[in-house]
This record gives sequence, C-alpha cells and structure tokens, in this order.
Amino acid sequence: MIMSMRPHATREEIDHVTERIAEFGYKVHSIEGEERVVIGVVGVGDVTACLESLEATPGVERAMRISAPYKFVSKEFRKGRSAIKINGTEVGGDEFVMMAGPCSVESEKQIMETAEGVAAAGAKMLRGGAFKPRTSPYDFQGLELEGLKLLRKAKEQTGLGIITEIMSDRDVEMVAEYADCMQVGARNMQNFALLKSLGGCGRPVLLKRGMSSTIKELLMSAEYIVAHGNPNVILCERGIRTFETATRNTCDIAAVPVLNELTHLPVILDPSHATGKRSLIPALSRAGVAIGADGLIIEVHPCPEKAVSDGAQSLTLGGFRDMMKELQPYIKLWSGARSAELAAV
Ligand code: PEP
Ligand code: MN
Repeated sequence: MIMSMRPHATREEIDHVTERIAEFGYKVHSIEGEERVVIGVVGVGDVTACLESLEATPGVERAMRISAPYKFVSKEFRKGRSAIKINGTEVGGDEFVMMAGPCSVESEKQIMETAEGVAAAGAKMLRGGAFKPRTSPYDFQGLELEGLKLLRKAKEQTGLGIITEIMSDRDVEMVAEYADCMQVGARNMQNFALLKSLGGCGRPVLLKRGMSSTIKELLMSAEYIVAHGNPNVILCERGIRTFETATRNTCDIAAVPVLNELTHLPVILDPSHATGKRSLIPALSRAGVAIGADGLIIEVHPCPEKAVSDGAQSLTLGGFRDMMKELQPYIKLWSGARSAELAAV
C-alpha cells in the first residue's frame, strides 16, 4: 500500500497517520519531498480496513493498494513516465538522450578530446569511470579523485553532464560533488549499503542491471534507492550472462519494453557492454531506439586500441559521429511516437 499526504500536511497529521498505520500492524516507510510526504506501508494485515481508515484520516490525499513488491517504482504507483533532469536535459521525456564517453577516464588529453568529439556529434552526457570495478585486482583501477577532477574540467569545457560510477558507500559524498548522475554498475546492483546511501545523495542514479539479475531484482534494487529518499533513478539494460559466447553478454532486448510495462522510471540501453563488440553497436543502438528506450549509453575512445579498458567495444570518435548520423531517422520516428504518447496523457 502507498499513501500520499496532501501538499503541506502538518507534522501532527503525518504523525497521526503513522500511528494509525502502526495500529493496523504495518511498518511505515516515508519519503519526505519538498511539497508532500509519501508513505509506503509494508507488512501483513487487513489491507482493505487499513485503506478505508486512512482515506478518512485528516491530511491524507490518496491511499492505494499496490500489489507489486516494488511499490514506488511500479506503474501501479504512477501511470505515466517519470522524466529525470540531469544537467538541464530530461531523460524519460520528449528527447532521446545520448550518453557517451570512454570506459575509464585515463588522462586529460583523452577525456577532453572525447568530450569535445561526442558533444559535437550530439551527445548530452559524458560517461567515464574514475572508480573502475575490474575483474582482476592487477588491472587499472581508475584515477579516482584525479579522474573526477578531469571530468569536471571536461564539463566546464563542453557543458556536458557527467555520469560516473560509484562503487562504495564511503565515496558517495566525494563522487556526488563532481557527478551529475551516479552510475551503479552491474557488479554493484545488489550492494544494498550503497543503494541505501544513494537515497540521500541528492543526484540522479543510473542503475545498471546486474549480469545475472532478473528484471524483478533490478526493480527491487531501484526500489531501495527510492524508498531511501531518491526518486530519480534511471534503469539500464547492459546485457546478461547466458550460454551464448558470440557476444560478451546477451542483450536482453525485451527487457526495455518489459520494464516500460512495469515501471514509470526511464530505461536506457548500453549496447557496448551488451555486445562487447564495436561492430555490433550501431545495430543494437538502432534496436534501442526502435523498442522505446529513453536513451543510449555508448563507450567511445579517441584511440580504442590504446584504451586501458573495454577498447574492443568502444567506438572511435568518427564511428560515433557516423552512428549519430545514421540514427537520426530512427530518432525522428521515436520523437513522433513519444510526442503522441505524451500528448495523449
Ligand atoms: C561500465 O559502464 O564501464 C561498466 C563497468 O559497466 P557494467 O557495470 O555494466 O559492466
Ligand atoms: Mn566499460
């Protein structure tokens, strides 16, 4: 069950509602927004009696039953789409958003060149890891704070919003100072301490699907972030592990429309990690536009053969520019469909 208080309900009203819910044997999970308080009601009890009672309680605007285990992120909670603003650009609105950049921030020259190239080609956000989750402890682990500072410099030069990975709850404050959007990587999708701390980070979160995670588990992880106070979560399909070895991961292309049926949160596609192969990125990108993703996140490097990570799945700057041109007719169709959808709501 979820209930929202009227805008500017008094503290007494909120406390009274909380007490009533406890009397019915439920636990309360409240999110205090600027305008109104939304309360998640969880546990086992007499739902109908509790709903009826709450609807008649002063200060309550609406109480509703939500059957999905993920409450705040479900379509039952919000029918339309949630658009999330990052550095002035909305993800989940009427614009198809391109995010691009290297796997890792490596040097000032590399990040500046990439930022300028992808901005000129039409990207709105620069991605780049300063903290890298690597399978081997002997591989490049990221430039950390120095990398964050380089990303800031690239933002100042190009105006691009910055998306960068956060790996530990200890680093949330530091990364949030530099990032416009905090990326949670596949390997940390179920790092619940991290998810909880991102509830209070004050930045949108890009949550990537774990490589062996179900769609339901992805939504439950998003629910952690929202339930801890941050409604601005973007989901990302980045391929999952299967028996197939022709690609690095198997791109679960159906995950995008499935998520669009289950949640109001924006959903983007990462064709780079989903395939592991540069040659496949344009085809998967076209697919992403066609199935109604809200944007794409693409790895781009000025010289992929010298990249310290994920060079094989990185487009060159020229490759990214060409792909952006090829995508335009598809994006035009996307925009028409999205405008019609938004106008019908
Ligand atoms: C990345 O974006 O570079 C990355 C490590 O992605 P994932 O967490 O999806 O593997
Ligand atoms: Mn990568």
